[in-house]
Amino acid sequence: MGETVIPLADLRYVAQVPAIPEQLAPATGLLADRLGRPLRDLRISVTDRCNFRCSYCMPKEVFDRDYVFLPSSSLLSFEEITRLARVFVAHGVRKIRLTGGEPLLRRGLESLVEMLADIRSADGEELDITLTTNGSLLARKARALAAAGLKRVTVSLDALDDAVFRRMNDVDFPVGDVLAGIDAALEAGLGPVKVNMVVKRGTNDHEILPMARHFRGSGLVLRFIEYMDVGATNGWRMDEVLPSAQVLERLQPHWPLRPLEATTIGETAERWAYEDGAGEIGLISSVTQAFCRDCNRARLSTEGKLFLCLFAHQGYDLRALLRSGRTDDEITAALAGIWSDRQDRYSELRSAESASAGGSDTSTVARRVEMHYIGG
Ligand code: SF4
Repeated sequence: MGETVIPLADLRYVAQVPAIPEQLAPATGLLADRLGRPLRDLRISVTDRCNFRCSYCMPKEVFDRDYVFLPSSSLLSFEEITRLARVFVAHGVRKIRLTGGEPLLRRGLESLVEMLADIRSADGEELDITLTTNGSLLARKARALAAAGLKRVTVSLDALDDAVFRRMNDVDFPVGDVLAGIDAALEAGLGPVKVNMVVKRGTNDHEILPMARHFRGSGLVLRFIEYMDVGATNGWRMDEVLPSAQVLERLQPHWPLRPLEATTIGETAERWAYEDGAGEIGLISSVTQAFCRDCNRARLSTEGKLFLCLFAHQGYDLRALLRSGRTDDEITAALAGIWSDRQDRYSELRSAESASAGGSDTSTVARRVEMHYIGG
């Protein structure tokens, strides 16, 4: 069954430079967008590179040896990232997630974690600094990251079966090394560790039960993620999506589960607890149960472009403001203007369109930003 791979339109450079309002209103920490959603969660992509080639994110056919990744000169420095993070925190951000590509490929990441860990919220609270990784380098880095101030990690792991896992990462990387990375994270105190499994019907859905069996009773939270139409290169098809409701149907006969309350507003995962007390799982259902109504997430690309949605077509060039000598007050006011004008809710619209027209509007696909560029 040949997958259709769409050649990549190079989007990295399409972003508008934000306007600086005449009135530079100070941040209040109460910023809200047009749908009343606050700004609470900032995802920072620290590199567009990855050592895996997962087909749902960076298919090898597109991100091959000729693919031109961003030059280091265009990446935000750790000082620039920290300066922008302070502006976001002043507007209400409480959680910072470091992503990529594969964030552990960025040299000296511990130093950035240390700089971010120094930031306090307006009411003096520490930030929740976390990281999403494919786990390939975690065994080596976990202790230093924890010492630098990292609080938690989320590890992407799409299968336990070594052959399936190697096929999915498409670089023949052994599953054992990722499991060793998870152990190292636990030893370093980077818990509760969450494990994210992207479920693709016909590729790894037969791994749902083995994964659940492995992580039940371990204290780790396994989350099943619906395969998403992110970016423009993964050849997404609805018939390869296994709805979360069907994941649940597969688990319930083996281990009865009951729903749990969300721990925070804007949480992406629906929580379910094992009736027998063996912990919980999460279901992240962007395709069949959109969660845009509480989406309080902003995404900063590796070179300082702000995206307001994972499925955005257009970014805002904050690096241009940084490197043109704009003050923090000016950048603060510009960010307020951008966020208060936000009304993104792609997944809700996709669901509505699919329901009415039997499939999502493909006219915008080619312009969607890539997940490896802004982080999941
Ligand atoms: S689709 Fe966009 S608006 Fe909706 S939850 Fe995802 S990132 Fe937020």
